[in-house]
Amino acid sequence: MKETETVAFGPVPSRRLGRSLGINNIPPKFCSYSCVYCQVGKTINMTRARRSFYKTEDIFEQVKRKVNETNQRKEPIDYLTFVADGEPTLDVNLGNEISLLKQLGIPIAVITNSSLIWQNDTKEDLMEADFVSFKVDTVSEKLWKRINRPHKDLKLNTILEGISDFADEFRGTIVSETMLIDGINYGVEFGKTAEFLKQLKRLDKAYIAIPTRPPTESWVTPAKEETVNEAFQVFSEKLGANKLEYLIGYEGNAFSFTGRVEEDLLSITSVHPMREEAVKEFLKKTNASWSIIEKLLLEDKLVELDYAGKTYYMRKLPSRNLFTE
Ligand code: SF4
Repeated sequence: MKETETVAFGPVPSRRLGRSLGINNIPPKFCSYSCVYCQVGKTINMTRARRSFYKTEDIFEQVKRKVNETNQRKEPIDYLTFVADGEPTLDVNLGNEISLLKQLGIPIAVITNSSLIWQNDTKEDLMEADFVSFKVDTVSEKLWKRINRPHKDLKLNTILEGISDFADEFRGTIVSETMLIDGINYGVEFGKTAEFLKQLKRLDKAYIAIPTRPPTESWVTPAKEETVNEAFQVFSEKLGANKLEYLIGYEGNAFSFTGRVEEDLLSITSVHPMREEAVKEFLKKTNASWSIIEKLLLEDKLVELDYAGKTYYMRKLPSRNLFTE
């Protein structure tokens, strides 16, 4: 089997991207970070130097073949997504690959840790995409070093400036992702990160995420519901709640309803927390009673949280057992 034969995978369902055909353009595991929560394993090759990993034509052929197979099954593809076993922008051919793949007529997304976005060549490559998701877990040097464990030559301020410059110029969909883990004293960090995101010229959505698969470091567990809710509330004060969504391991959808009250409530609360008043209103509209909430709380599917004197309901986070098995 040729090395590139595992480059294209899926399509897989993704809330951010619909049906996404994945492109793994980096062999495991070359990265400029070694995040404590990384779900791809340890960074064996820590690097910030861009280089060629596969031939551009080989990547194109593999993706084209996968697209044809998917078309034959009459399955739709919403995005071709660079989501790698490492950092996709380390691939020096990324821009050429995107240009070539555009022939297939499907929008192209890149999920990046943003560590190289300040470099002109990386920025120009990302400009070719239709959708870019960039990582900002923190804007504080100390936490950044603790959580993302960056390559020693990288500078957080330069990266943040690079993100701002990119957001000034990029015309596609641009979203951020902030991963939260337990055991970190975030303190005023949520406010500072939200402030940074707020000053960006453009940001379509800010995602608040938790790790949903076993992380590299065994001490890492996902942030608790209280922390996730606090981050949501602090971010929404700066950015507006409509700009925010959770990525917590459920494919919830806050905008399409099945008419089944329980299902819809769980779907909404897996995308964002709901204030008590909003839950009451929702129940009234659907002619349902509060006993549904009590049942979901009892079944451990929903959690009740207090923040700044208000009560919120959010989807219970996925079992933490998978992190200790
Ligand atoms: S940037 Fe992504 S691939 Fe790299 S270590 Fe962090 S989570 Fe893993």
